[in-house]
Amino acid sequence: MNPQPAIIFDLGKVLVDFDYRVAVKRLAQRCANPLLAAAKIANQIPLLTDYESGRLSTPEFFERIRAVCGFPGKFEEFADIFGDIFTEIPPMVSLQRQLRAAGFNTYIFSNTNELAVRWITGHFPFFGHFDGYIYSFEHKAQKPESKLYEVVEATSGRRGADLIYIDDRPENIAAGQTRGWRVILHETPQKTRTLAGEWCGLKID
Ligand SMILES: [Mg+2]
Repeated sequence: MNPQPAIIFDLGKVLVDFDYRVAVKRLAQRCANPLLAAAKIANQIPLLTDYESGRLSTPEFFERIRAVCGFPGKFEEFADIFGDIFTEIPPMVSLQRQLRAAGFNTYIFSNTNELAVRWITGHFPFFGHFDGYIYSFEHKAQKPESKLYEVVEATSGRRGADLIYIDDRPENIAAGQTRGWRVILHETPQKTRTLAGEWCGLKID
């Protein structure tokens, strides 16, 4: 049996752009000393990694950020500020829509966190139209760890060249390539759309 390939989309910088500096600035503005708070929050990359690896729950993450900078607001305000950093990338959203309309299965495969997923789900209707979602924080592993790639294979029921994988990070792409997946290092929407269209036998407009 030779199933139709499934298309595996990374999320950040592929389907949505993001800028964490926006959240840092807005959180800091709510703190007693915004300049100091901004510097302290910006230093919390390891905390974000722990959150996206599922080692910290959402309430724990919130408490840790609050302890770092003295953010005085409630959780819901924090969640709104932390989530409101994303914008859609229209030509890539359109690519997924066209692939899906042509009958291809599409999946989200992302190093991400619960608050980002909650925000994107609530604000971008396209996000509801995938066949499955593989998130780092749910599986306690991050790309490029092989464990997470195995989840993609199990979820999609496909492996090797039956998977077409789009991601902007070379190390993530390399891990897919070693498993025999067909890979597209996302550099521009135009390049990705052309190659994906070719491999799927579709004219993308
Ligand atoms: Mg990315």
